[in-house]
Amino acid sequence: MEQPQVSPVETALPPYNLNEEQEKKEIIRHYRALLRSLKSKLKKGDKELVRHAFEMAAEAHKTMRRKSGEPYILHPIAVAMICVEEIGLGVRSTICALLHDTVEDTDISLEDIEREFGTEIARIVDGLTKISNVIDTNTSQQAENFKKILLTLTDDPRVILIKLADRLHNMRTLDHMKREKQLKIASETVWVYAPLAHRMGLYNIKTELEDLSMKYMEPEAYKDIARKLAETRRERTRYINEFIRPLKEKLQHANFNFEIYGRPKSIHSIWNKIRKKGVAFEEVYDLFAIRVILDSPPEREKEDCWKVYSMITDEYMPSPERLRDWLSNPKSNGYEALHTTVMGPQGKWVEVQIRTKRMNEIAEKGLAAHFKYKEGSTNTDEDRFDKWFGQIREVLSNQDTEGVDFLQDFKTSFLAEEIYVYTPKGEVKMLPTGSTALDFAFSIHSAIGSKCIGAKVHHKLVPISHKLRSGDQVEIITSNKQKPSEDWLGFVVTAKARNKIKDALREEKRKIAEDGKYILQRKLESMGAAYSQYNIDELVQFYKLPSSLDLNYRIANKSIDLKELKDFQVLGDKIEIPRPKPVVHEQVADPTPKSLNRKDSELIIFGESSDKIMYALAKCCNPIPGDDVFGFVSTGKGLVIHRTSCPNAAQLLANYGHRVVKTKWAKNKEISFLTGLKIVGLDDVGVINKITNVISGDLRINISGLTIESREGLFEGTIKVFVHDKEELEELVTRLKSLNGIQTVDRFDAETV
Ligand code: MN
Repeated sequence: MEQPQVSPVETALPPYNLNEEQEKKEIIRHYRALLRSLKSKLKKGDKELVRHAFEMAAEAHKTMRRKSGEPYILHPIAVAMICVEEIGLGVRSTICALLHDTVEDTDISLEDIEREFGTEIARIVDGLTKISNVIDTNTSQQAENFKKILLTLTDDPRVILIKLADRLHNMRTLDHMKREKQLKIASETVWVYAPLAHRMGLYNIKTELEDLSMKYMEPEAYKDIARKLAETRRERTRYINEFIRPLKEKLQHANFNFEIYGRPKSIHSIWNKIRKKGVAFEEVYDLFAIRVILDSPPEREKEDCWKVYSMITDEYMPSPERLRDWLSNPKSNGYEALHTTVMGPQGKWVEVQIRTKRMNEIAEKGLAAHFKYKEGSTNTDEDRFDKWFGQIREVLSNQDTEGVDFLQDFKTSFLAEEIYVYTPKGEVKMLPTGSTALDFAFSIHSAIGSKCIGAKVHHKLVPISHKLRSGDQVEIITSNKQKPSEDWLGFVVTAKARNKIKDALREEKRKIAEDGKYILQRKLESMGAAYSQYNIDELVQFYKLPSSLDLNYRIANKSIDLKELKDFQVLGDKIEIPRPKPVVHEQVADPTPKSLNRKDSELIIFGESSDKIMYALAKCCNPIPGDDVFGFVSTGKGLVIHRTSCPNAAQLLANYGHRVVKTKWAKNKEISFLTGLKIVGLDDVGVINKITNVISGDLRINISGLTIESREGLFEGTIKVFVHDKEELEELVTRLKSLNGIQTVDRFDAETV
């Protein structure tokens, strides 16, 4: 049979119209239910404490109502109930859940709570209050707050667990909110809370949060899939029964104590599959998974799971690449199970999940269940959590991590699924999916990361950007001459590697900037001006740079040419920026070949004034200065610049001649443009290095992305670079072509640049 979905996603709340007396009874009824589910956990004196918290919260929220009209106190009670029933938390968490909105919304202060319940509870409530401030703030503020949340998390994970319960109840009762509010809360839920629940091992809650979010964000798709699931249910149940029957007999025969059932996949996950694979609902084969839950003593758990695996695969043929062994290597959120996909009746693939009761409880209640089983098991689980918290702490303690960046790092690095890779000595390292050889190097030690020039995966040479896969054995190759460069940031996904690379780059930049400082000092003095803060600030402003460090750095690497300073007046020891500001179009003041300076290109438009005109570069052909271009006035986007060789050019010019504007590149300003190159050559150890050395070393061009694929001694690479104009691009192409082993270098115009 098929188990019903746990999510009460379709239950609408009853309209609220009780009188005061009935309302009181209703509140008491909910409170008693809470006490009942907490019963087994109550020690002496606990009941009084819970009661005290309940009364304090009820009194404080007395006059408040939820959007549905019901008394507010029902919300904290419901949150407490979720904590106990669905997450498996205990008395202290219940008290915190009951009080979670009091400091935020009522006259009760943190001091009151500390006085009545002690510091532990006060600290958790404080954490909860801070998290709720995340809502209704702008993105960067939100990211900053999120960082704070996680700082609290590292102190006490219960804050996050209670917050998830709070969010779950709010999502379950979202119907009464205004549409904009629903969308905002729902998107925040998929973006932050569902992944967080996943990371904490709360699979049921994660699934429900995703389904509920989808219900509000994609109501049509949601309803459509829900309806189709309901319509096909009978048929599915019949199939599941047919699938299970022979297995049941075998397991019974072997005297296993077990449960076996089919479990539907969530609407959200089915929807994802439909979108990702571009298939119709009818073609999604895994609408459900079969779950076998064994009642095994701790010492026989692993053995029993494998025995069952073997019995199942005797009956149905398994797909070898779909075996997932999370028994030997549990996920870092604690998940343990054996997953396999087998060929069921009628040639259909069916996923089977095998786990014990203990594992199942951990899968459903995550972290909290772990605490429960902690004493009994070895301390490896605990180690794993400690490691995770340790990683978070490391990122958080990095002062320079900016809010938004941080959120991104958090998402990619901590919420991603893991891969397991091995050191040459067979030691396991856990890394997020998408990690590269460089991430691995940094995970061993930052000194190894900084010197990494490549790696051997299963004894085969790969570049530092090589994406690792579970099971890879990786040996890092280092060189003392190596140092981190800007493009490395595009090769790593772990926060640790990113931070270490950024640190190294900043250090490098500081060193280079020192040279620029002396050049500038000499230049100013030769003009009769002082090397003063005033003059430095003027120049920083003139070049529109964020800081004097950037000014010095650019002077040192010659991307700023101080020749322009000769147009400056010097009054006393102060420089004066010439006005009107340097002309943007054709050179008047300076007839020298300076107009050929390729660092100084900007686009202007004929027949218009020299005012700056907003324009965008067409994605289809990515023009850069020096290319033959034309402007196209598009509705909504303003002026879009295309190359005349653009595949769309003919059609645009032919059909919309009246919207085409003549344009040409003028000289000035420093803007760089993204373009792409496709390189094909012979695969040899140093080739990546040679390429990146030419680009970011010799020519000091910024790389925005680089992917290399090698096959049978050949490699094909795509490099995305920022260049100032065509001339610079051509120089780069010539230099690359002259490298040993490089066969072709072509500009790459695809939209994917
Ligand atoms: Mn709340």
